[in-house]
Amino acid sequence: MMTGDHHGMLDVALAQLDAVAKRLALDPGIHKRLRQPQRSLIVSVPTLMDDGRLEVFTGFRVQHDLTMGPTKGGIRYHPGVNLEEITALAMLMTWKCALMGLPYGGAKGGVCCDTTRMSLVELERMTRRYTSEIILFIGPDRDIPAPDMYTNEQVMAWMMDTYSMQQGITSPGVVTGKPLLLGGSLGRREATGRGVYYILKAAAKEHGIAFKGARVVVQGFGNVGSVAARLLYEDDCCVVAVSDHRGGIYNPKGLDILKLLAECADKGSVSEHRDGDRITNEELLELDCDFLVPAATEGQITEKNADRVRARIVAEGANGPITPEADEILAGKKVVVLPDILANAGGVTVSYFEWVQDLQQYFWHEHEINDRLSEVMTAAFQRVLALSRKERVDLRTAALMLGVSRVAEAKKLRGLYP
Ligand code: GLU
Repeated sequence: MMTGDHHGMLDVALAQLDAVAKRLALDPGIHKRLRQPQRSLIVSVPTLMDDGRLEVFTGFRVQHDLTMGPTKGGIRYHPGVNLEEITALAMLMTWKCALMGLPYGGAKGGVCCDTTRMSLVELERMTRRYTSEIILFIGPDRDIPAPDMYTNEQVMAWMMDTYSMQQGITSPGVVTGKPLLLGGSLGRREATGRGVYYILKAAAKEHGIAFKGARVVVQGFGNVGSVAARLLYEDDCCVVAVSDHRGGIYNPKGLDILKLLAECADKGSVSEHRDGDRITNEELLELDCDFLVPAATEGQITEKNADRVRARIVAEGANGPITPEADEILAGKKVVVLPDILANAGGVTVSYFEWVQDLQQYFWHEHEINDRLSEVMTAAFQRVLALSRKERVDLRTAALMLGVSRVAEAKKLRGLYP
């Protein structure tokens, strides 16, 4: 099972910030301000369940930094959601948006719940109540939620409707990752996986690894992993293993990803697939491959298994799948790590495109979105690569240095109020 190790995720985020602050010789006052989220909201979400019981869920929305513009970040529904995790993820969103040059600060939200045990109606009631509890916090020019783990276009549609009904207007720009019909963007659903694909393409070129026949392993077959797997497969890579929360499937000759996708839509899991051997999620991470894409959840590659990772490049599709201890072990083995705030930034980048389209009520063609995404991702990769060479640091440190310094610079320009 991919339970993940999210204990101490905030400690990790803070340690990363502290290390980067030292390298950048950051102003101590600005460093202190960046260590704390600007605003955190904890709400109770009373929800009527189908059997007549009343359940009270706990929800969060954390806005880490508002310096660059309205805040942006996903909403996750998961039993492991807690304030520390959401705060750490909000902080990562600040660096991610700044690294990509988006005019946003970072935010994150979530509700502690198990959606796999909830009906659609229960999910809708909970989403609407959660939205109304955070309604003063959000808005197209305040804070713009998006999907994250176990939330999707339908959840975004309910959030948009709840906000719009309370405002007495229709406000598509309040969330991104909406259905197309409600002001969503072409390409948004695929954007995170597509971004992973573009980043891997740029990194492979840099390291002289041919795409044709490159062996790929993907952990997680959700919105990120399944799209990355498909695009890599369609670009002649040999996807040898994929998995979801129920387990994985391995075929050294390569899996037929299109067949797998069709089957998955039917059966709801890749683990039933016949053309390969069943493996666990743990075994999957240790397979010999060129590209490993952990696209499930945090805390998957740790000091316990990093030593056995045999990939040449690891692209973090999820947020925080590699712990700092594992990072060090991988660096020692000369494994290239493409960090989350770069590798999975395609999602928030196309969210930005969606928001721009909503504000202008002018919608783009899909090829325009994908072309611009490719441009933005490749340019960000080149910036990170150049700084990592100049400073002799790994790609994660370079990416964080770029993100943090941009926010710090903006904070300095704005000064301290009052
Ligand atoms: N939840 C995604 C992330 O972690 C997307 C956030 C967004 O589109 O605002 O980057």
